[in-house]
Amino acid sequence: MLNSIAVDRRSLIAGATVLGVAIAAGPLQAQEKPMIDARTALIVVDVQNDFCPGGNLAVTKGDEVVAVINALGKRFETIILTQDWHPAGHSSFASSHPGKKPFELIQMPYGPQVLWPDHCIQGSKGAEFRADLDLPRAQTIVRKGYRPEIDSYSGFVEADRKTPTGLGGYLKERGVTRAVVVGLATDFCVNWTAQDAAKAGLETRVVEEACRAIDLNGSLAKAWADMAALGIKRIKAADLPG
Ligand SMILES: [Zn+2]
Repeated sequence: MLNSIAVDRRSLIAGATVLGVAIAAGPLQAQEKPMIDARTALIVVDVQNDFCPGGNLAVTKGDEVVAVINALGKRFETIILTQDWHPAGHSSFASSHPGKKPFELIQMPYGPQVLWPDHCIQGSKGAEFRADLDLPRAQTIVRKGYRPEIDSYSGFVEADRKTPTGLGGYLKERGVTRAVVVGLATDFCVNWTAQDAAKAGLETRVVEEACRAIDLNGSLAKAWADMAALGIKRIKAADLPG
């Protein structure tokens, strides 16, 4: 796990360079004072070009989450970003499986896996965060899905359900006890990240208007039901304190 954390920190530095204006700029003194304390983390899942209209795995109206998340970001002191970050030829891509098409289901050594169009390839434009994502207080970028043989919807644990990204330990060391999860897509990476946040012992909420879904064969309704079963609250931004 220590290695994972070390990698994440290096990735953060590299990511911050790529992000440029979106993350690094903005005088802090000009911002509003955060209203939600540092023990509550805003976890912003995969707000990347490929998951927005025009991207390789576009989520319908995915771009509409950006303004909502930017506004939320002014209220949080602790902000974490996840970034889907695949090597070319990743095992979750349909193109890596001859005869298979995107959105088909296959069995991987770790269980069922939806096959996706090629997306969020390391260093590509599609893998970059949306240029209009404006979260100058974001502190950590957790990259995921970088192992060729394992997908990772969750920001906490990869799809083999065994390999930690290091985020759980990072939040624990920082004394974070609550998570507010937002981003793309509701029924996949937001869902899995929120579920793992709850399993890590965090009091977890998902802000519904700050997410958009893929909704593949009923996956959205199932995601909300599975999250509710774990005690995850589905809320509106207006339900947050402050
Ligand atoms: Zn992916």
